[in-house]
Amino acid sequence: MAVIVQKYGGTSVGSLSRIESVAEQVIDTVRQGHQVVVVLSAMSGETNRLTALAQQLDPVPASRELDVLLATGEQVSISLMAIALVKRGISAISLVAHQIGIKTDNHFGAARIKHVDKKRLGQALEQEQVVIVAGFQGQDRDNNITTLGRGGSDTSAVAIAVAVKAAEVQIFTDVDGVYSGDPRIIPKAKRLDAISFSEMLEMANLGAKVLQNRAVEYAKEFDMSIRVLSSFEHGEGTLVTTSPIETLDKKSSLPVHSSVSSVVCLQKRAIASLPRLKDCEYLQLKQELNKQGIEFTLIDPNKCQLVEVENSCDCHHFVISSDKIVCLKSILEEITSAPTSGIIRTLNGLSQISVICSEPKKQETIASKVLSILTSAEISTKLISTSATACSAVIDESDLINAMRLLHSGFGLDSLP
Ligand code: ADP
Ligand code: ASP
Ligand code: MG
Repeated sequence: MAVIVQKYGGTSVGSLSRIESVAEQVIDTVRQGHQVVVVLSAMSGETNRLTALAQQLDPVPASRELDVLLATGEQVSISLMAIALVKRGISAISLVAHQIGIKTDNHFGAARIKHVDKKRLGQALEQEQVVIVAGFQGQDRDNNITTLGRGGSDTSAVAIAVAVKAAEVQIFTDVDGVYSGDPRIIPKAKRLDAISFSEMLEMANLGAKVLQNRAVEYAKEFDMSIRVLSSFEHGEGTLVTTSPIETLDKKSSLPVHSSVSSVVCLQKRAIASLPRLKDCEYLQLKQELNKQGIEFTLIDPNKCQLVEVENSCDCHHFVISSDKIVCLKSILEEITSAPTSGIIRTLNGLSQISVICSEPKKQETIASKVLSILTSAEISTKLISTSATACSAVIDESDLINAMRLLHSGFGLDSLP
């Protein structure tokens, strides 16, 4: 009898009728003879609603208290799911993070899972109960409630799967797998049958929100395969695993021989440029951003072309979410003990678009191809940078959809009609 961990995201449990149909799906898995742990997100829109409530009282709410508030969303969905299962004659129990010992660090809003205690989970599974766990939340050393960052239920599911030595973790969502580009933006994107942890991690880091990046990191570390599936229709989905090529069948749509495998984007970005800091200050700034779970891309002027950003070498440039500029300024003020007004220049209303490369040696060719595709469509590029596995361009938000589609087709990723 295998243990299967199934995670359902917000849209999948977004209404009572959705909760009932997920309950039926869980029952099917139980009837196939599996022990099942279900990890749930809050019902769709709930985390945003709670955040907005707190922000009416304080635009930057106290982080500990915000986590107490946000964690309630998942408690609602797990209890409703347990009610639906019990009503159908299934033995089920809902549990929040502290009841099963999901231990995290104390970085409110972006906590990392340190350990999942398998005792309580194991007991419930032995008693043939379906265990329904609240995703997105944990408990720090001082018993404070913590949350894992947006999309964090994916990471809860992977960590629980590792703890109970599950055969597989299945991430059920509102698309039927991982695509070569967000299928909501690129209708011609192709579903990938399988993808490696490393490539998926790069996609997630650069904006493919279908899996939280930390979930992929965790799965990679513990070699726990993830299958991304639709909760709305049957299908094979996408397997995220160590060596996907061996697991593919011959008809696979994965472009294993192509140097670019997907196009992803981060929206609502800004470029922040600040005068060069002392090395120790610079290090401190990066550490503090990481500690607060603020994702940023550092632009090394030696490795990127600053097409429309001036004064490149006297400055540090960051690509960062626009709503984190306030945090960046306050961290900087603490580090340098000086006011930041007029010091940080920001360029707002941007998107970062990236092509993920599977052949590192082709980086430069890829960068010039990205630039030429964008330029010939009269899309202005603020900056373009390359890493071992990706090439990213920062463009105006208003050009995003056009640019995504052009790069996807320009690199030969479009599905055939
Ligand atoms: P859930 O609420 O189930 O966690 P998310 O909204 O977090 O779902 O993630 C699913 C969404 O990810 C899809 O609706 C899709 O728009 C988006 N997405 C972005 N990039 C990709 C991609 N490369 N493949 C599939 N989905 C993607
Ligand atoms: N409810 C949280 C969010 O909306 C966590 C999750 O859905 O994974 O981000
Ligand atoms: Mg998600």
